[in-house]
Amino acid sequence: MDQALKDRFAAIEPLIGHTPLLEISFTYKGKARRIFAKAEYYNVTGSIKDRVALYILKKAYENGDIHPGDTIVEATSGNTGISFSAIGRYLGHPVKIYMPDWMSRERIALMESFGATVRLVSSEEGGFLGSIKMTEDFARQGGAFLPCQFSNEDNTNAHIESTGAEIIEQLGTLGLKADGVVAGVGTGGTVMGISRSLKSANPACKAFPLEPSNSPTLSTGYKVGKHRIYGISDEFIPDLLKLPEMDQIVSVDDGDAICMARKLSETLGIGVGVSSGANFLGCVLAGDALGDDAVIVTVFADDNKKYLSTDYAKTQTPPEGSLTADISLTGIRVIR
Ligand code: PMP
Repeated sequence: MDQALKDRFAAIEPLIGHTPLLEISFTYKGKARRIFAKAEYYNVTGSIKDRVALYILKKAYENGDIHPGDTIVEATSGNTGISFSAIGRYLGHPVKIYMPDWMSRERIALMESFGATVRLVSSEEGGFLGSIKMTEDFARQGGAFLPCQFSNEDNTNAHIESTGAEIIEQLGTLGLKADGVVAGVGTGGTVMGISRSLKSANPACKAFPLEPSNSPTLSTGYKVGKHRIYGISDEFIPDLLKLPEMDQIVSVDDGDAICMARKLSETLGIGVGVSSGANFLGCVLAGDALGDDAVIVTVFADDNKKYLSTDYAKTQTPPEGSLTADISLTGIRVIR
């Protein structure tokens, strides 16, 4: 990598990572608990995927896998596309995104605002898997770089080296180590990377990959259903997710995830996306397994602004068996 490019990477790096860790106190069924969540909407485009896009592009330059002028081509349910659009354009690359056509319209507008070309893929054209195939067809013409977020180990490594390492350091300032980590699975990079990192600091730490109960692909191996936790459960088990390294799959209802995301914004002013609501509920389930005092960590992958055209913005009736209904949020402490 030449010096000009090194400088260009260095200039944007302070805007990515080093996010606050939020300690959120609450009661569940009347008992006091807390969780720790990384506020990932503090990243430059507003999601955890900025870490991944930056890391993958840097490694690709170091390894000679990408060249100036190459088109960055990726299949994504949104946040990865937004990150590659912004950082890719910043580095001077054309960016082409293939995305299922049922994702929120804010995502498309954001990618286009960052200068990317977006190709929507219907379920008749194959949805997510169809999008991945189209990126491969595009790359055959040459002059393309495929980040391959679902199978590229640098996605996981980004979370080992940045997200996980930051959590260890931030918990360390309180004299704590994580007993468990929960994260909704899209590519699986987040749950794999953070859990590998946290397990190196505390081998007893347990990993809880999360899926929507209405689309239980991880626990059944094949079942795919419609759900509203955008960004996770993309119709297949991703290559990056190594289930034997995981401890217990947790599943939450998508309506309950929306209720929890809304409760966080209505009660604490923490405006997060639906997968963050799901992750909070996943931490409650992990707490049931590990005990009320367990130190359980998760991520708030993005904020609520991309969901204002979705059911997130409509008042929800808690579903039967709602976990959210038994949660009262009591306070917040920020660890920088
Ligand atoms: N939540 C949101 C909002 C996301 O965009 C993503 C990534 N698609 C995830 C969770 C899941 O993260 P990962 O791909 O690392 O499993």
